[in-house]
Amino acid sequence: MPVQVKTMQERKITTTEQSEQTRVDAVTPKAQVSFEFFPPITGAMEKTLWDSIERLSVLRPRFVSVTYGADGSTRERTHAVVARILSETDLIAAPHLTCIGASRGEIDDIARRYWDMGVRHLVALRGDLPKDVEKYRPHPDGYAYGSDLVAGLKKVADFDISVAAYPEVHPEAPNPLSDLDNLKRKLDAGASRAITQFFFDVELYLRFRDLCATAGIDSNIVPGILPITRFPQLTRFAKQCGASVPDWLTRRFDGLEDDAETRQLIAASVAIEQVRLLEKQGIEEFHFYTLNRAELTFAICHALGVRPQQAAA
Ligand SMILES: Cc1cc2nc3c(=O)[nH]c(=O)nc-3n(C[C@H](O)[C@H](O)[C@H](O)COP(=O)(O)OP(=O)(O)OC[C@H]3O[C@@H](n4cnc5c(N)ncnc54)[C@H](O)[C@@H]3O)c2cc1C
Repeated sequence: MPVQVKTMQERKITTTEQSEQTRVDAVTPKAQVSFEFFPPITGAMEKTLWDSIERLSVLRPRFVSVTYGADGSTRERTHAVVARILSETDLIAAPHLTCIGASRGEIDDIARRYWDMGVRHLVALRGDLPKDVEKYRPHPDGYAYGSDLVAGLKKVADFDISVAAYPEVHPEAPNPLSDLDNLKRKLDAGASRAITQFFFDVELYLRFRDLCATAGIDSNIVPGILPITRFPQLTRFAKQCGASVPDWLTRRFDGLEDDAETRQLIAASVAIEQVRLLEKQGIEEFHFYTLNRAELTFAICHALGVRPQQAAA
């Protein structure tokens, strides 16, 4: 291979980039983070979850959220994880609550139960369609959409509510504009912030953020970051929720099917690159889909300057 000699100009660029990197590393981090977990099924999964919560809690997240099966299938398990977070940690627990397939009365009861146990933050969602259902039909006595759910929850109690946003448009939305209107409705109904579906091209998020601003949305649109633990699983998830998997990402994981160690390093570098690019664009809040694993999320937070904090003396 021929030796490539760099021109002075190229060397200068490298030096400038280097000092930029040092500068970013040196500043006090402004980033705030939150983490999402899902309720475990088995004893082994339960141990992984609690080990992960313990490891990540020292990063002082703004809140930790716990997902909810769309058909209410995880209701008791979600509740149990939230109850344990409240009783054994000083973290702010934010249960997800979906309205699909439930009556308003059922949802309001769950919300009241959460409020009574000290929950003040909810992630309010319509919920995914069951696998065998093609077209969404609201429950006859239920909250039809996310915006109706937010309005209903606000009537139950003054929860701090997060909702979902879709930089690549929700798959069931008739068009991008109506999806944006829907997001605005959810925020106008009383939600305080939106958390995005995961994405990998930073440009997609930035364009979406600009569209939100143009539509008069001034709430925080928090990027949802998915550290990639297993690539085939990711492509499946992405297909289901309408997120794109760019070719450059596929190429980075290409050939690593049997090499978990290298996959982990690549996954960390992809997500670190992503959050650093977002940070450079002024993003200060990140939500991590941890999939109940701490390692990658911890490493990415470290790169963002989010480090364990000492308890006050
Ligand atoms: C951060 C995050 C967390 C999530 N957590 C969970 C979870 O814990 N459990 C779970 O099951 N799923 C979860 N999901 C997935 C979510 O439930 C699905 O994406 C679901 O399909 C849509 O939920 P939503 O609240 O965004 O729905 P909505 O805001 O109600 O929107 C759903 C669709 O209906 C359209 N729409 C809205 N209002 C109207 C109207 N009046 N007329 C016609 N169309 C309308 C919207 O444009 C959109 O296409 C999560 C998603 C995200 C981004």
